[in-house]
This record gives sequence, structure tokens and C-alpha cells, in this order.
Amino acid sequence: MSPQSKTVKDYIRTIADFPHEGILFRDVTTLFADPRGFRMAIDQLLHPWAGQKIDKVVGLEARGFILGGAIAHQLSKGFVPIRKKGKLPGQTISQAYTLEYGEAVMEMHEDAIQPGEKVLLVDDLLATGGTAQAGIQLLERVGGEIVGCSFIVDLPELGGRRLLESLGMNVSVLCE
Ligand code: AMP
Repeated sequence: MSPQSKTVKDYIRTIADFPHEGILFRDVTTLFADPRGFRMAIDQLLHPWAGQKIDKVVGLEARGFILGGAIAHQLSKGFVPIRKKGKLPGQTISQAYTLEYGEAVMEMHEDAIQPGEKVLLVDDLLATGGTAQAGIQLLERVGGEIVGCSFIVDLPELGGRRLLESLGMNVSVLCE
């Protein structure tokens, strides 16, 4: 395939049985490693929100940091990380969410977003939507106004997009 005809999806590698048997892991490191693919992904993640006011870009640990940092730079806006429990040094707020087995907790610095700030939430992949929902809850608790949620990959059979849309979110995905 010529590089000019490749879409974002063509740069993503699928690895079977990682990190557990039965999981088809969508490996976006091959997309990130390619200059054309990476730029195309950043441009397409931003495209749906063109012309809308965005004050901060928020990324979900960990691949959301890579995307969110590049998007924030492109917009000349600030970047805010939402991290797994225990990683952020300042005063945080926490949100528990359900994983396939058990619970996890995401955290954000309580002063990272000011009430009324318009935010764009980004991550590499939407599966059940649990991680993104925890991020949305954190952002709403500090008064952030979520303009949209952008993901590279959606796994539609897991229902994440439906969940986020049921919460009133504008959701954009680049491929399935
Ligand atoms: P979820 O909370 O179920 O929507 O899961 C989304 C989070 O888990 C994202 O941060 C993804 O990076 C990661 N994730 C879940 N399933 C996969 C998968 N099949 N391939 C790659 N990453 C995944």
C-alpha cells in the first residue's frame, strides 16, 4: 500500500492475547511512530471541534497523554493529565470506576480546570467507556464544560460510545 493511500487505521497493529488471553490489543505505537500517520491522527482528532472554543486539552493515562500533548500544542492551549491513583503530586480529586475484574481509580489535580473552562477529552481507544466516564465525572465535578471526546479507535460491541452519548457527550472516533 502506498503511504499516500494509508488511513489512520492502516497504521494500527492488532496483537492477539495481550495483556490477557482473548483480548485483541489495538497497538497505536505503530501509528505514533510514523510521522505521516501521527500527524493525520492529530489533525483528525481535532477536526470535529474546529471553530469551537477549547481552553484545555485533557488526556487519559497513558496514551491519551501523547495525543493530548500534541493536540494542546497544535491549539496553543494547556494540557491536563487524568492519571491512575497515586501518581499526581498535588491535591487531587478521585473517581472510582469498574474494570472487567474489580475497580480502579482515576485522579485529577483539583485546580487543573477552572469552572466554566471548555475542555476536549482525548484517549486512544474507547472500549466499555468506563475510563472515559470517570474522566468526565472528574471534569464535571470541577465545573469543566466538555466540548467533546475524541478517540482514535472505538470497539462498538463494548458500548462505550453509547454510554458516553447517554451522558450527553459529543463523541468522535476515527475508526473501529
Ligand atoms: P474502557 O474503560 O473499557 O473504555 O477502556 C479504555 C481504556 O483501556 C483505554 O485507555 C485503552 O487504552 C485501554 N484499552 C481497552 N481495551 C483495549 C484494547 N483492546 N486495545 C488497546 N487498548 C485497550
